[in-house]
Amino acid sequence: MLCYQCQEASRGIGCTVVGVCGKNENVAKLLDFLGFTLKSIAKIIIDKKIDVKEIDYINHAVLRSLFMSITNANFDEDAIIAQIKKNISIKRELKGSCNCECENITKEKILEKAEKIGILSEKNEDIRSLK
Ligand code: SF4
Repeated sequence: MLCYQCQEASRGIGCTVVGVCGKNENVAKLLDFLGFTLKSIAKIIIDKKIDVKEIDYINHAVLRSLFMSITNANFDEDAIIAQIKKNISIKRELKGSCNCECENITKEKILEKAEKIGILSEKNEDIRSLK
């Protein structure tokens, strides 16, 4: 795992084995994937020029997801997975159609995919640090 989202990060760099806050690797991966779903939703909203004032329930889901991601707010894997699934259904709804395999995504699949979309998947250190 790598998490460097807060001032408690190990050695001032990042938590790589377990979080100083108690976050475990699974939670770190699930939260990475939760953030990924938010980026997907945001991209569709921007691309389709959707008026955010018209999508209250989506705004609520985004805010809820962001709050779940802050340090020490939520380590409940089932709750994070439920929010990921909700965000995926929002993404599918916004997109209109989707050929991906995300509809019935499992915890195991999320953890597997999180490896590919996590912060370490960006090989360029400069770009990674901007994220
Ligand atoms: S949120 Fe937890 S795991 Fe992440 S940097 Fe802070 S202490 Fe480490």
